[in-house]
Amino acid sequence: MSRPIVAIVGRPNVGKSTLFNRLAGDKLSIVQDTPGVTRDRIYADVEWLNYSFTIIDTGGIEPQTDDLILQHMRNQAEIAIDTADVIMFITDVKAGLTDSDFKVAEMLRRSRKPVVLVVNKVDSHEKLQYDVFEFYNLGLGDPYGISSANGTGLGDALDAVVAHFAPVSEGEEEDEVPRIAIIGKPNVGKSSLINKVLGEDRVIVSEIAGTTRDAVDTDVRFDGKEYIFIDTAGLRKKSKIKEEIERFSIVRTVAAIERADLVVMMVDAEEGITEQDAKIAGIAHERGKGAVIAVNKWDAVEKDDKSMYRFLDTVQKTLAYMTYAPVVFISAKTGQRINKLFETIDMVVQNQNLRVATGVLNEILYDAMAMNQPPSDKGKRLKIFYMTQVSVKPPTFVLFINDKELMHFSYTRYIENQIREAFGFKGTPIRMLARERK
Ligand code: GDP
Ligand code: GDP
Repeated sequence: MSRPIVAIVGRPNVGKSTLFNRLAGDKLSIVQDTPGVTRDRIYADVEWLNYSFTIIDTGGIEPQTDDLILQHMRNQAEIAIDTADVIMFITDVKAGLTDSDFKVAEMLRRSRKPVVLVVNKVDSHEKLQYDVFEFYNLGLGDPYGISSANGTGLGDALDAVVAHFAPVSEGEEEDEVPRIAIIGKPNVGKSSLINKVLGEDRVIVSEIAGTTRDAVDTDVRFDGKEYIFIDTAGLRKKSKIKEEIERFSIVRTVAAIERADLVVMMVDAEEGITEQDAKIAGIAHERGKGAVIAVNKWDAVEKDDKSMYRFLDTVQKTLAYMTYAPVVFISAKTGQRINKLFETIDMVVQNQNLRVATGVLNEILYDAMAMNQPPSDKGKRLKIFYMTQVSVKPPTFVLFINDKELMHFSYTRYIENQIREAFGFKGTPIRMLARERK
């Protein structure tokens, strides 16, 4: 169900970003459909053989002194151990083994997480290949010599990574209990909400030991229905470096979202909605997860009869790419509308799993085309033969068309809107794919 997470860890300048960009490939350069969400290249999707997974670069900042480098590497390793399914530990053949490499290797070994040891900058084969053997000393098994700069050796390293993924058991039913990640920037009230929910009389709680050291999922029964809440708070280690705190909080959010079916995106009513909120919500949108926007601390704002509309308006402007997400005004402090939040979650779960029969879908399609003719270019007109829904979570539709070049974003969006008008799909992103059929 959820995509495995592979975390990249290593000293500054060993080539983590170079590797990251190579693995992420062209995908980073294509225009993304999440306007306003800046790409800081912390995470990306990778396809290798039949596997698809998410890579996260935990590095990013470049401390200057040896002490700080070691501290930063320890923090990286800790976050990777905490969130990743497999860790790629990157070292540098040109710099050789360093003291901090040994220390981090020891941490990784003790964690018992699968680690793939990568030795980068093995650009030419003969001599450097011998130097790679030295890295056996780290006690992390076979070192994979690669060159991120020219792409050699990557195949073997990736084979080693995917070999650690849990086998995909075919035909096995996914468990039906919705998994919910509460996300949002620090201090919006995530823990308060969880605590409030857990404190309700009607709620029966049991903790599910997580696969990772700190993550503990909570199984909640509310009005007879079951939900699993994924903890995003995790370890709250104090770091002195602001960029580090921010980066790690995004890494944590990505990991939690990856494991979730839907998110409750919390925003702070007192502060209003900001670009930082847009960035966090955008992660859920891009990953095809359902979303409910919870405007929290509603108890603390001065209200008149228009306050809600005004707030709604700014939410929809700032999160323009996810106008499908329902908005609930809550107070984690007083418990106001927590009922409503659960009702909304139930609705989104239903919509994520909704399947529309091909017949009905095509009636909508033909009506849509009659109302608004498909675009043409240089005398050639786009033809859409038919459309079918290929999957749920998120609902994904394939349009069979004559020529991909003619399928403009705006027309795809138009069809999507027609589908939404007819069937709702409130709370879930929709994916539209085009396939040529000549
Ligand atoms: P990071 O700090 O770990 O993210 O490292 P970068 O990706 O920024 O790379 C640091 C430096 O190493 C840059 O100058 C890269 O061009 C260089 N570099 C990265 N990969 C390779 C490689 O495979 N071979 C060589 N020769 N240089 C590389
Ligand atoms: P987190 O960092 O997102 O987990 O946020 P916390 O749950 O720790 O809350 C941050 C602060 O906001 C705390 O001081 C809470 O008491 C306060 N807070 C949380 N929810 C509400 C709310 O609904 N109303 C008010 N007035 N304060 C809240």
